[in-house]
Amino acid sequence: MQMHPESALPPHLLASRPPDWPEPEALAFGQYLAPYLVESQHLDGAGWSAPCLTPRTASSALIAGGAVQYGLSVFEGIKAYRDARGGLHLFRAAEHVARLQASARRLGMPEPPEALCLQLFDLAVQMHAALIPPYGRGALYLRPTLFADEEGLGLRPAKRHRMSIVVNPCCDPQFKRVRLWAEPELIRAAPGGLGAAKTGANYAAGLAGLMRARERGYDDVVWLDAQTHTQLGEAGTMNLFVQIGDVVLTPPLDGTILAGVTRDSVIQWLRSQGIRVSEQAITLNALRAGAQAGTLGAAFGTGTAARVVLIDAIGTADGDLWFGDSDLAAQVSRALKQIQEGSDRRYAHWCRPVVDPCAVELVAAA
Ligand SMILES: *Cc1c(COP(=O)(O)O)cnc(C)c1O
Repeated sequence: MQMHPESALPPHLLASRPPDWPEPEALAFGQYLAPYLVESQHLDGAGWSAPCLTPRTASSALIAGGAVQYGLSVFEGIKAYRDARGGLHLFRAAEHVARLQASARRLGMPEPPEALCLQLFDLAVQMHAALIPPYGRGALYLRPTLFADEEGLGLRPAKRHRMSIVVNPCCDPQFKRVRLWAEPELIRAAPGGLGAAKTGANYAAGLAGLMRARERGYDDVVWLDAQTHTQLGEAGTMNLFVQIGDVVLTPPLDGTILAGVTRDSVIQWLRSQGIRVSEQAITLNALRAGAQAGTLGAAFGTGTAARVVLIDAIGTADGDLWFGDSDLAAQVSRALKQIQEGSDRRYAHWCRPVVDPCAVELVAAA
């Protein structure tokens, strides 16, 4: 039996499933972190190293380095799924790589080449193939993280960076409903700032807002624009969509929100269904007018981790705005699950196949 060349991963590198491994449904997002990181180091002048493996708990960030001191760190969140035939693929890997490169550029860090990123992603998936939930029941979430990895308190571009991939097998997200609080004072991002980069600084800017929303009894915060405090930006970790009349609105990529890969997938799917999508500002007043006229439909948030989350209401100082009764968010969620899991073959080009080393071993042994 011929071995696929890409499967030349020595068997001792394959993570095995612990005897007490939970059912996929119990793998809450972000909770179970695989013991090894897949890493590459960048040295000024020498470039990127070949991939290496580091025990996760032995890897540490430098306290006197740029990542901890100045927030010089960017990341991605990408999922690998099993398809109905048991095969493995990464969802929209090229788009996640392009965004990681853009985030690195914005923070003045070296851009990892696409080929290296894909090699690291594939390796992380292959090593952990035994931990990936079966078709339809979850995914392997990868958290590629690029950070300055050099000591020194002066602010300057670091000569050494590291890209580490944290690996997290997780359950399929449940379709949740939430209420958001429109934060009236704090601002997450302004034009020209970091809003379009996937970086920890955006979360540092946002955590207090999330806490304020929770104190008021809401599940999450929705950020408003920096100048007028009247236009919706995005929720804590999700892009927003609102149905008004027969149009679905989503805020434009004006530099203050992240260009979500899920956002883009949803826009393309909605348009393929003949549903009008407009990337345009959504004001609180337009929502109020829609609510009064009875044209306000569903609202939902999108992101890799949670897929689609139904938004029941947005709270403001002038009272709660309730969205209408519409099945659209649930429809989008179902369609997206099919697309991400490789079942909707019209979107096969969004799935990057990864050779499953376990399957190759089985075949080779037969
Ligand atoms: C990652 C992220 C999202 C969602 O992006 P996806 O590519 O769809 O996962 C939205 N907003 C912020 C701030 C994010 O960091």
